[in-house]
Amino acid sequence: MSLGEFDLIAKYFTRSVKRAALGVGDDCALFATSPGMQLAVSSDMLVEGRHFLSTVAPERLGHKALAVNLSDLAACGARPIGFTLALAMPRVDERFLEGFARGLLALADEHECELIGGDTTQGPLNLCITVFGELPVGQALLRSGAQPGDDLYASGTLGDARAALEVFRGTLSVDGAAFETLRHAMEQPQPRVALGQSLRGIATSAIDVSDGLLGDLGHILRRSRVGATLEVDALPRSAVMRTLPAALQREFTLAGGDDYELVFSAPPGSAADVARAASGAGVQVSRIGRLDTEPGLRLVDANGAAVANGFGSFDHFKS
Ligand code: ADP
Ligand code: MG
Repeated sequence: MSLGEFDLIAKYFTRSVKRAALGVGDDCALFATSPGMQLAVSSDMLVEGRHFLSTVAPERLGHKALAVNLSDLAACGARPIGFTLALAMPRVDERFLEGFARGLLALADEHECELIGGDTTQGPLNLCITVFGELPVGQALLRSGAQPGDDLYASGTLGDARAALEVFRGTLSVDGAAFETLRHAMEQPQPRVALGQSLRGIATSAIDVSDGLLGDLGHILRRSRVGATLEVDALPRSAVMRTLPAALQREFTLAGGDDYELVFSAPPGSAADVARAASGAGVQVSRIGRLDTEPGLRLVDANGAAVANGFGSFDHFKS
């Protein structure tokens, strides 16, 4: 006999809460922010065939569904509090539910982000998470705060998730160990939650890279009304990425997508603060360019020579 709706909620998605006043089980969850703090709220939906392959292990899918949401909190500098999960699935598959819940709740525990409610329905596999975080009133990192003269930085490395996707698509081939590294980046991104919080009061703007560096940086430039010069040879790349042909390295780092790294700006005088924030968070941060008053984005190589920008970024309704 397969589980009913309420049995499966009870078995897989009901846990005691510490931070919230009330979790799963009533019509609403209840929680309050700490004094002097404001809420940061974000939703992300994952649709089978669009955001993930049907072959992905359920545990990794659970991890990624929450990771992409935590990444948005990180980009605003918020501390996670809790999340809700709206889940549609074609049938009750306990092997799927067990793995999915395990991956999801392990990452939730790591970030002390409680599952406080949701909705469960039959339908095509579709996951929507809404996360709640908090930060001191007025201290959110926004896309709109960048200033001409600020340095631009990126966390971690870029492009590996896209390289993994190309291996899955059959357009790229790498050895087994390299594939595992790339695949880990694609399926188990680590949201930069600690870094985002340590950048409050240092970074002037921030965004998380989900649709590709060029596209997401473009959002900062437009909202802040600044331009930028990006040093393509300074983009942080993994050891595996560095073994790929140079043209692919450029394409994947600039326009790959699914990176979930933070890109942010900070005044030139705060380089030491940025370095301290990065080492405190245990995350590598690289300087990748500079903002200026000339609108648009210019790409240059290590010698300062212009590089053509023929790359697009991901748009759900244009690709
Ligand atoms: P209602 O009909 O009042 O919207 P439901 O019967 O859908 O409530 O859900 C019962 C309880 O279970 C609620 O507290 C809801 O937040 C929670 N819930 C439902 N689905 C999930 C899920 N996938 N994960 C976590 N909590 C869930
Ligand atoms: Mg409901």
